[in-house]
This record gives sequence, C-alpha cells and structure tokens, in this order.
Amino acid sequence: MPPQWLVNRPGEPVGGMPDNFGAPRGTQDFVPPESGRWNELEARIHVLAARFGYGEIRTPVFESTDLFVRGVGAQTDIVEKEMYTFADRSGRSLTLRPEWTAPVVRAALEHHLFALGPLRLYYIGPIFRYERPQKGRYRQSHQFGVECFGFPGPEADLEVISLAWELVRGYGIGDAVLNLNSIGDERCRPAYRDALVAHFSPHLARLSEESRLRIERNPLRLLDSKDPADVPYVQSAPALESFLCAPCREHFDALKSYLDLAGIPYTINPRIVRGLDYYGRTVFEITSSVLGAQSSVCGGGRYDGLVQSLGGPEVPAVGFALGMERFLMMLQARDAQAQGPRRGLQAIALGAQARTVLAPIVAELRRTLEAPTYADYLERKLLAQLKIADRNRARYALILGSDELAAGEAVLRDLEHRSDRRVPFGSIRVLVELLVEAGL
Ligand code: ATP
Ligand code: MG
Repeated sequence: MPPQWLVNRPGEPVGGMPDNFGAPRGTQDFVPPESGRWNELEARIHVLAARFGYGEIRTPVFESTDLFVRGVGAQTDIVEKEMYTFADRSGRSLTLRPEWTAPVVRAALEHHLFALGPLRLYYIGPIFRYERPQKGRYRQSHQFGVECFGFPGPEADLEVISLAWELVRGYGIGDAVLNLNSIGDERCRPAYRDALVAHFSPHLARLSEESRLRIERNPLRLLDSKDPADVPYVQSAPALESFLCAPCREHFDALKSYLDLAGIPYTINPRIVRGLDYYGRTVFEITSSVLGAQSSVCGGGRYDGLVQSLGGPEVPAVGFALGMERFLMMLQARDAQAQGPRRGLQAIALGAQARTVLAPIVAELRRTLEAPTYADYLERKLLAQLKIADRNRARYALILGSDELAAGEAVLRDLEHRSDRRVPFGSIRVLVELLVEAGL
C-alpha cells in the first residue's frame, strides 16, 4: 500500500537523491490518490460557498509585511515568530501570506468593494508559517475560509458557522465538536483582563516563560496555552461569560438560540480565545479528537474593528479559516478501512493488432463517457492488466484478444461482480450505448 500521507522529512535522501533535493521541511507533496481527495474537497467547497451566496477571492501569495503586522497584530504568534519575511531585490519587505483575512480586507478596500454594501467572500489556498513541523502542523498548509462583511448582528455569525458546519456534516464526520465562546468587546474586556491578571499574578513563578511574557501584554492569550505548567491555572481561571456587558450577552444569547433552532450542536468553551488580536464577541473552533494535539480544524469569529484598523470604513465582519490538511486527516481517520467505489473502465488489448483496434475506441470512450477510461499500452499478459485495473479501481474491463478480434466481440468484465458478457466493438456508437446501459 502506498503511504497514505506523504510528509517530506528533512535530511532523508528522497528516492536516492542528494539531501538538498528533498522538499523543504514542513511541506508536503500530494500525489494520487490523495490529490484526488483534495480535488473533491475543493469542488465541494465551491458548490457549498455558492449555495450560501459567497464569491471567491484570490489574492497574491505575498503581501507587504506591514499588512500582516497591522492586520494580524504585532503581539501574535504569527507576527512574532511564524512569518516568512524577506526583502525583494529592491529592498521592500514582503511576507508570504500567513493568513487570509488581512489580504482579503486589503483587496476589498483596494477595489472599493465595501462601498457596495454587505460583502461575502471565500478563499482557498496556501498559507505559510514557520512552525515546528509535526502531525497536522506544516510550514506550507492550505486554508478554506469565508468572510462576511457588513452585518453586526448574530445572524451573520450563524451564517458562517452554518457554512463551516455544513461542510463537516456533508462529509458525515461524526466526532467534530463546535466550541463556542464570546470574548466580549472593548467595553467589557478590560475588566476581564484585570481579573485574569489578578488570577495569574500570584502564580507567576510557576507559569511557562511564554505566559509570563504574555500576562502584561495580552493576558487573554494565556487561556490559549497548552503548556503543562499553565494548565492548572488556566483551568481555574474565571470565565469571561460572567463579565459580558449587556449588548455582548444579548448577542451571544441570540446566537445560541439561532444555533439551537438550526439544530447545530455546540459546546460553550470559555478557553477558546483565538490567537489573533482583532477578534471580539463571537469566537468558535471546530475540533476533533482524531487530530491529536493539533485538534483544531477550523477557527473563526467576529472582528468588527479590523477593516477600520486597516484604514477602511467601519464595517462589521465575521468569518472563519479551516485547515484543509487537518480536515482531510479527519476524513482519512474515518475512511481508514473503506475503499472508494469502483468506477470507469480499463481497456485491455492483448497483442499488437488488438491494440491498434482498441486505441481509437479508447479515444472515443474518453470523449463520450463521464467515467474514466484507463488504458495500458505495453505488451502485458491479461493477468498483469487486470491487476492494473484493480489498482485503478476500475469497475469494468473491456478485453480484446485475438479470439475476440476474430469474433468481432470484446469481453466486458464486471470487476465487482466477476461476471463476463460479450459486446460487439464494430460500431463504437453501439458499444458506447451498451457501456452506458451497463452503468458507465
Ligand atoms: P493552532 O492553535 O493549531 O496553531 P491557529 O490558531 O494558529 O491553530 P488559525 O490561525 O486559526 O490557527 O488557522 C485556522 C486553521 O488553520 C487551524 O484551525 C488549522 O486547522 C489550520 N492551520 C493553522 N496553522 C496550521 C499549520 N501550521 N499547519 C496546518 N494547518 C494549520
Ligand atoms: Mg498557530
């Protein structure tokens, strides 16, 4: 069996090549059949986003560094230690996109899209973060995300959460959990921040170094810590919910009842705070136990202040980003045993003459049938070609040997039910009709 998930490892000679020809650390190649799963996921995303009225946005892979410093926040993990930043030949500082929201807002401002009223955009593509590579954590990974601009109310929160949940539901993933929280706004958060500082300060000496640094600048981020040193203090920290001001509470309550009505199950999780600076009120994460330590597959929330902080008008916004590698890992955990259904046809010629007859038939089948037509052009025995058909997961084999040539009839073998029937190949039109009838 081929490796299910190819992770390029540094320092290991790849296929006998010198070390320095291996793919960079933390990056992955996707080859068939994994690449097929990517295509299917992307196809589903395009259909789903269109159903919700979202249009696709594509932005450059690199942007000016300043955009991320301002749009993500100077004191975030991303900006502090994860960005791929470089100077181009004219000395401009550029950064490979570590997340999409800031570029989306930049592009929407540049094209005056906010002037048209509410705006719904989605994206699919790579992000780059200098992280310690491990399962579910890469230096180049891919995100699908949506941004809904222009609605301050909880209906928009419901909309983006429903969209993410619909993708999970559509794939029938059973063990995904929607974690929901509200982190308040600039009115109620300061009091909570003070309460957190008061809670953690007496234990400063026992906290992780990172948390000691963060407590001054961004105490909320401590709640995000998975460091064993911090965990007991994080668990006993006060929850923000009791600090919410009336408008934030109302917003949160309304969202919860919308989710109840929509039949979307959720868990209130006061530890969800999100890493980026610009979030306020609603935050959420979709997690799955099959992902291990990197359990979060999708993270999002409301960021009403971001557009303005990037020099735009006051535009409320809510969105999410979903990690496609982790999403596919969830599917893989579920499908570990199951093989996809057989599909398509393997054209098998035995001998040079049969090959000559079969080649134009293969060309015509590929123009006509929706299911794939596979063909092998080397001189091989029937058994070897049937093995190839199995590897392709073909449903049928169309076999043409010298006996069949003489009789004007090929053998159509159903590889699932192991049954043969004879089909005339003199008229391609008739043959195609028969194949369609057979279920191709
Ligand atoms: P984590 O806490 O795992 O570092 P994050 O908070 O940095 O996640 P976000 O910035 O919210 O992640 O990105 C949204 C989603 O993108 C994550 O839930 C995850 O699925 C995916 N993601 C983020 N960073 C990586 C990475 N380095 N490799 C693979 N997927 C990633
Ligand atoms: Mg991260």
